[in-house]
Amino acid sequence: MSISMLARSITESPTLKLNEEARKLRERGEDVIHLGIGEPKNKAPITAILAAAAKLSSGDIKYAPSDGSPSLKKAIIRYTEDNYGRLVAPENVVISAGAKYSLFNLFYSLLNPQDEVIILAPYWVSYPEIVRMVNGVPVIVTPEDGTFHPRFEDIENSVTSFTKVIILNSPNNPSGIIYKESFIAEIVDFCERKGIYLIMDDIYHKLVFDHKVVIPAYRYTQNDIENTHIITINGVSKLYGMTGFRVGWVITNRKLAAVLNNIQAQTESCTSIVMQAAAEGALTGMQSVVEELRLTIENNRNVVMQELKTFNGVRVIPPDGTFYCLPDFRAYSNNSVELADFLLRKALVVTVPGKEFGMEGHIRLSFAGSIKDIISGIERIKWALDPNAPNEIYIGDRKLVRDWL
Ligand code: PLP
Repeated sequence: MSISMLARSITESPTLKLNEEARKLRERGEDVIHLGIGEPKNKAPITAILAAAAKLSSGDIKYAPSDGSPSLKKAIIRYTEDNYGRLVAPENVVISAGAKYSLFNLFYSLLNPQDEVIILAPYWVSYPEIVRMVNGVPVIVTPEDGTFHPRFEDIENSVTSFTKVIILNSPNNPSGIIYKESFIAEIVDFCERKGIYLIMDDIYHKLVFDHKVVIPAYRYTQNDIENTHIITINGVSKLYGMTGFRVGWVITNRKLAAVLNNIQAQTESCTSIVMQAAAEGALTGMQSVVEELRLTIENNRNVVMQELKTFNGVRVIPPDGTFYCLPDFRAYSNNSVELADFLLRKALVVTVPGKEFGMEGHIRLSFAGSIKDIISGIERIKWALDPNAPNEIYIGDRKLVRDWL
């Protein structure tokens, strides 16, 4: 059997792989704490469940228009008007099976072989892989050591005649930081002048803390939706904790939207009409569910920061949003893959190595889970690494003694 060179070069999703490892350990009865997970614990909003159930009970489950059902588009248009201050037409919206597919479709539609995409480190693991999948070239811009905020000049200096796209994710997975307004304004102005597409991955844009708000990039351009180079990505996965429903969308000009629609029609055909009904239920239902989730996560963030403060040698920049933080563990190891593996084997805690996000020496911790898991998880990590932590710990009713420090 021969597999294509391109397909062989694409790496496994490290986060999905870790989920699988944690699942297997749990199946064996191990008391694993999952601080790697990228999804909140909440139940899906009731309005989403009811809308999906009503659609299912109708028994009329057929193909939908490939770019999305008219009624979900209507809800997305309303969401865009309310949250972005932009009135868009149904022809500007393309709905897909998750924002991840929206991104794949976008890169497939925009990139010729060897076209470059500027990605800011730390970055979401899938960006470079998706770019490579469509024969594009990821160009990583890394911030100064000790910060998660690249400088505009570094981006400008990385642009070549092959640069087609810059992608930004703010608040950012995995660092949790929100990029400065002045920085976004500079990039928007730059992209509009140079004709470079600017993809704003806004999947976490309402999950922000300390009364911060994410200003939409559209605020910094005079161009209308047909002429701006800004492309917006969003979805229900994170805002409503509906990761399993698989609904995401793109807002862009009609010309590009029509191309995305063609690709989608020839690949996924359409997003399941049942899941689209659920997304519509979430978007048109009580929005207090988002605020409840945000408050829970903000509280979790406070607990993580509190716990990490007492961890000798670990430095962390407090996240402004998302449900992740990316502490610097270089006081313990420069090899984050080995470190994450060690933590899983010794302490039964799942973390994600910073190397996967372009930040070696760091470990991504998710605080999307329960407070109990966060506190016990960090206690276990301290036990495994910090010689000042007590050298005995209970995991379930098993007493473990540290004999490696
Ligand atoms: N963008 C970022 C930054 C993410 O972290 C994720 C999921 O982890 C996605 C996009 C994909 O979201 P979806 O579940 O809608 O595919």
